[in-house]
Amino acid sequence: MGKRQRDCVECGASVGIIGRRHCCRCQNRLKEAALKATCPNCGKQRVLRDDTGRCITCSRICITCGHPVRAKDTTLCRDCARRARQQAAQQPCPRCRRPGYLRDGTGWCGPCSRPRRPKDPPRVCTECGQLRRHAGFGLCSACWQSRPERPFNAGDNLLARLAGPPPWLGDLIGHLASGHSPARACNMIGDLGRLLEDQHSNHPQALLERARLPGRSMGPLARALETFFTDRGLALATDQAEQLAAGRRRRRIDAVPEPLRPAVESFNTFMLRSRERARRAGTLPRSDVTIDGKLSTVRDLAKLITERGKQDWALVEVHDIEAFLNILPKGRSRRLTITRQFFRFAKAHKIVLVDPTRGLSAKATKGFTGKILTLDQQRELFRRWTTDPAAHPHEVLLGILALLHGASSNEIRHLRIADLDPLDRTIRLGQRPHPVPMDPVSWTVLQRCLTHRQIQRTDNPHVMVTKGTKAGKTPASIAYVSHVLDACGISPRTLRSTRLVDLVNTMDPKLVAAAFGMSPEGVMIYLADHIDPTREAALPADRP
Ligand SMILES: [Zn+2]
Ligand SMILES: [Zn+2]
Ligand SMILES: [Zn+2]
Ligand SMILES: [Zn+2]
Ligand SMILES: [Zn+2]
Repeated sequence: MGKRQRDCVECGASVGIIGRRHCCRCQNRLKEAALKATCPNCGKQRVLRDDTGRCITCSRICITCGHPVRAKDTTLCRDCARRARQQAAQQPCPRCRRPGYLRDGTGWCGPCSRPRRPKDPPRVCTECGQLRRHAGFGLCSACWQSRPERPFNAGDNLLARLAGPPPWLGDLIGHLASGHSPARACNMIGDLGRLLEDQHSNHPQALLERARLPGRSMGPLARALETFFTDRGLALATDQAEQLAAGRRRRRIDAVPEPLRPAVESFNTFMLRSRERARRAGTLPRSDVTIDGKLSTVRDLAKLITERGKQDWALVEVHDIEAFLNILPKGRSRRLTITRQFFRFAKAHKIVLVDPTRGLSAKATKGFTGKILTLDQQRELFRRWTTDPAAHPHEVLLGILALLHGASSNEIRHLRIADLDPLDRTIRLGQRPHPVPMDPVSWTVLQRCLTHRQIQRTDNPHVMVTKGTKAGKTPASIAYVSHVLDACGISPRTLRSTRLVDLVNTMDPKLVAAAFGMSPEGVMIYLADHIDPTREAALPADRP
């Protein structure tokens, strides 16, 4: 012990070290106090750990729930440890695949092992009379779902639920119920209710826009609403058709290889602009189908040119165009016309300097070169359509009218109930100036188609009504009609051509043109270069 230097400033004990104001005890106490701080968890003055920022007690926590644990080497609190032990004892149930304690008796988990309440024994359905499981009101599930009053009940519930139901809602529910099966109508009324109850406007146009589904089809509810609202003048038709056409054009342009694409893009803009101009001027505007066809041809040409190693429209030569036209010899004149149009546009817009299609010519002959049917083939088809009950009424109608009256598939598509005259037994076909008189066979076929239409219970004014159009007012789709004759492997065009070639070659072409509402030039195509072998044989052999 050294010499006492002074008294401790705090406790008065002796301080032995020169220059120090506290005794060694107070010195130690102060040193310890300086290390301590308030623990953020328990609020006590403790030494805080660097890794956790808490005191040692508060640093020992459960790794799953964060609850404090006592012992130094424990990682889980009491509850979590118990849960972990339980989980370890569980095994996946072979029946429901969820983890559980498998019971010895069944080998399944508890809920699966519990005996079920047996289902009620099946009853005789009061509607269909079959012994089936009971769904409600003494009916089986199928009969319960197809009760015709279901959509009206759903509609009444919806009307009662809405604070201010729109005035047209009752009519709309009637429209949905009459045009669809009860199950479909109920689904649509459910969707309609969700739209009417949200915070947005319930104006017909706004409702119609909200009912549209994204994608290529706008959905059955939007289609039904469009028919209903446009019929009553409550809303304008949607732009679905234009959107679909724009999508088709986009896909065709996107398929053009990158360096050639900008020219096709501006060709498309050019065609759309001239269509707009034609609409305003009242001249004949290009249809969507025409523009699609042109873009497809230019796209195919662009692909071929890229395959031949050219990256610029300006490098295209007449050989490239020849090679392109030779791929499809039958479509030569059509494809040449389109190619020529494209290069004329390209030259006018300085995309190319020389038009590579300049020296090319379409085939010299303009006559009809398509397929026609022999008499035997016609007889066989006629027999099929008049005697075979398995042939679909639409197939028979299109087949017979095309074969006997030269009807085009478009004329049949647009044939309406109002075009039929049962008294005179005539029909109005397309743009033909005079009603077409029906022979007994055609009339029978037409009646068969009308019976088929009656089964469909539709409000659609057309004769040919499909599953997709029976709830609306539009004619059957082009795609549907083009496949109607698939069963007999003949295209409607072949049948019509057969009839036209026959008529033009046996009668005055001018009469045919007048009867079919065609231009004389259109009819003359069928006259060119055709000699009927049977007529040739009937000619007197010793003629000079
Ligand atoms: Zn002291
Ligand atoms: Zn603490
Ligand atoms: Zn825990
Ligand atoms: Zn189970
Ligand atoms: Zn039943």
